[in-house]
Amino acid sequence: MERLDEFMARANALYYASHDPFADFTTAPEISQAFGEVLGAWAAITWEALGRPDKVILAEAGPGRGTLMADAIRTIARVAPAFHAALRLHLVETSPRLRAIQAAKLPGATWHDRIEDLPPGPIILLANEFLDALPIRQFVLNDGQWTERHVAGGAWVEQSCPPPANLTATAPGLYETLDPALAQHIGDRLRAAPGVALFMDYGPYASGPGDSLQALRDGKFCDPLAEPGSADLTAHVDFAAFARASALPAHGPLAQGKFLTRLGLFARINRLAQTVPPRAALRLTEAGRRLAEPDRMGALFKALALTSPGLPTPAGFEA
Ligand code: SAH
Repeated sequence: MERLDEFMARANALYYASHDPFADFTTAPEISQAFGEVLGAWAAITWEALGRPDKVILAEAGPGRGTLMADAIRTIARVAPAFHAALRLHLVETSPRLRAIQAAKLPGATWHDRIEDLPPGPIILLANEFLDALPIRQFVLNDGQWTERHVAGGAWVEQSCPPPANLTATAPGLYETLDPALAQHIGDRLRAAPGVALFMDYGPYASGPGDSLQALRDGKFCDPLAEPGSADLTAHVDFAAFARASALPAHGPLAQGKFLTRLGLFARINRLAQTVPPRAALRLTEAGRRLAEPDRMGALFKALALTSPGLPTPAGFEA
């Protein structure tokens, strides 16, 4: 019998080491190059807000195929050469397969297994669809009694447990938690040196009950407990809990569509569209709408920025 977070960690490590995740799902940077380009521009503005440090870590957690960062760096080289000269590229990735794909696109990067292993100093950290892959625990409150969900032989087993430390819920229901250690670490490092961390992922605006664990295999939802390692396991991100655990100034969560539009997603797409034949221009516009429209990826996906104390509101998050 395993606790859900142990099961999820084991299953996802197997999955990412043995599969091309992008055969099972697609992500924003793979949909449009403009996604990484506007985030590159955002990082350049953020570097200015940090006081233009002459050495800064530009890091990405869970870079997938390296597409977001390659698009971002290309933009940074063009629009902010001083930032380009100052940045040191660090990638957090556990999968050897994906590291090899990233290395082909991002020569000169340094790889780490965990965010905690990044070197100290000023940092701009990006993470798209990273937090949703991290192992969660699930607790059930019923008749005033807490149980924790475990997995045994492909089925759920509930074990009674003391009230979970980081849950204050009193209404019956299922509650999910992420180990607060990562958010606490980010809090500590952004208090020790200036930095901004941007997390983009899907999840609700506010903490609440609900089972959001899901598994994708061959592009279809399947039983998360069956055949560990054969499907991508994710959960919705509780941005509010993550921000709380960091104890940092937090901005958002803000709908992805609003954030990207404020950063000039469509201005960028229109520029790109002018350089290609009409049919390709239509495809570019359609990709931008997929990222930004509320009934598509624009509202379920959100952006959360955590900053060192005393920094201005990051670009795109102004009230
Ligand atoms: N950001 C990319 C990929 C998202 S998929 C994109 O938007 O396309 C999740 C990524 O996080 C993959 O690169 C996966 O290998 C990595 N990952 C998952 N769990 C991880 C962990 N615990 N530590 C480090 N990387 C992890």
